[in-house]
Amino acid sequence: MNRREAMQVVAGAAAAAFVSTEGAILSSARAREAVAPPTFSLPPLGYAFDALEPYIDAETMRLHHGTHHAAYVDSLNAIAAANPGIARASMAKTLGIIETLPDAIRTAVRQNMGGHWNHSFFWSLMTPGGAREPQGQLKTAIEGTFGSVAAMQKVMETTALADFGSGWVWLGTGPQGQLSVFSTPNEDTPHMIPGGRTAVLGVDLWEHAHYLSHDAARGAYLSAWWNVVNWDKAGEAFDGLTS
Ligand code: MN
Repeated sequence: MNRREAMQVVAGAAAAAFVSTEGAILSSARAREAVAPPTFSLPPLGYAFDALEPYIDAETMRLHHGTHHAAYVDSLNAIAAANPGIARASMAKTLGIIETLPDAIRTAVRQNMGGHWNHSFFWSLMTPGGAREPQGQLKTAIEGTFGSVAAMQKVMETTALADFGSGWVWLGTGPQGQLSVFSTPNEDTPHMIPGGRTAVLGVDLWEHAHYLSHDAARGAYLSAWWNVVNWDKAGEAFDGLTS
């Protein structure tokens, strides 16, 4: 059995588990519903809404976190209440086998779990007064792949501007561990790309992420965004992949 076949078996088994355990768990889940906390929760930003000003304004952060992200969490909890199977694996694992989920819930999980994962990661990638440059292994890898940090930033900006619709642009690693820049549409996550990708850095390109401060100007938003990037967090994400 080669790697591709093995992955298909794993994915098939996972899909079967989703279907077969759903009904069995449902009755106990209903019994717990009155006392159990929601399965998924909105993570705190870790800083004040106005902490990223002047680069990202407080009202944008308040709406983005408290309305947009919260709506994904609420919808995901509603799906999980009826389909407890989606909470049994890590989000990363579930998102990686999104195509194997039952038709009835696949799109909703894709949008809402994808949105929850993307935004949870995104908040952690920004910080007031944080590190201004990548360090350590990540810096070495960026320079080895792109020539310089500035050149990598240019590739991310060019990729972001080339995508007309809503979505995300990422710095991450591919199946062989090499760094690359790639984008995902809507709330798709790097896990959903065939072959699997992992994220080191990601930026939300939806207009709701920047409309109040930067109108529809995606380029100005990205230029501003580099000022609040938490490179320490990106470095931790990269170190976790390489260690
Ligand atoms: Mn968003």
